[in-house]
Amino acid sequence: MSHDSRDHGPHRVGQVKEVTSLANPIVKDIKALSLKKSRDETRSFMAEGLKLVIDALDLGWNIKTLVYSKAAKGKPQVEQVAAKTVAKGGLVLEVSEKVLSAITRRDNPQMVVGVFEQRYTPLREILPKPGETYVALDRVRDPGNLGTIIRTADAAGASGVILLGETTDPFSLETVRATMGSVFAMPLAKTSPADFLRWKKDAGVSVVATHLAGAVDYRTINYRAKPIVLLMGNEQQGIPDDLAREADALARIPQEGRADSLNLAIATGIMLFEARRHLLTLDERA
Ligand code: SAM
Repeated sequence: MSHDSRDHGPHRVGQVKEVTSLANPIVKDIKALSLKKSRDETRSFMAEGLKLVIDALDLGWNIKTLVYSKAAKGKPQVEQVAAKTVAKGGLVLEVSEKVLSAITRRDNPQMVVGVFEQRYTPLREILPKPGETYVALDRVRDPGNLGTIIRTADAAGASGVILLGETTDPFSLETVRATMGSVFAMPLAKTSPADFLRWKKDAGVSVVATHLAGAVDYRTINYRAKPIVLLMGNEQQGIPDDLAREADALARIPQEGRADSLNLAIATGIMLFEARRHLLTLDERA
């Protein structure tokens, strides 16, 4: 599969195409982005909603294709993003609602969808500075959890999310939806546990691993001394022993009641806001 504006011939680059047929090859390519295989092959992904697309362009993400419904035609903001897409050599498609529904697999689709190039930050380029907080996720499986964590990390002022081992795809439709746009704001790295531990040695960070058997109350940790990496475990298995052994602290969130553990995204949220409590103020967004 080849979803890339260059593959459709130079005469199409930068033009607005009207498409109403689901059999259109470009539409087929975009639809295929719901499959990980196609996302991996094309290194692209889909994001829904005009605001998201505007934010992504403002943050410098490369747009390959802009798709909008006929109903959105003529809206000044849509015209602006269409012009920006054309200026960057992307493709602009004006489509029927039926096509948008098929692309996004929704009955009531957003009027605008962008296809963007995926972006990972190489771990070696992450050089943590004082006051920075990162989240490292060991084999996260659930797309909703990952999206919620990316959104929460963004909201807490974290500096990046590091994915360890085999994880769910951060660029799946479900994860991107759950990030509510934060996928464009939060640097993402992916690596193996071994490379993460090698990076940790030189990065000057303190790794706080969260563990149901942790001996340390998460509220008693000094989060100010060094940049912090909050290491969170897999939904089913938690953190494996070899990773836990390398952590600087094993933190636990005290619990009551019948639940064995907290949901991964909730536990990450609690840790993030505690680790950054001294840095977050109400007037920051004023
Ligand atoms: N059965 C798993 C286990 O034994 O670890 C439960 C994993 S829990 C659903 C997913 C992750 O959330 C854990 O690996 C840990 O990182 C974090 N977590 C959940 N509840 C926690 C708590 N009370 N204290 C510390 N971390 C917790």
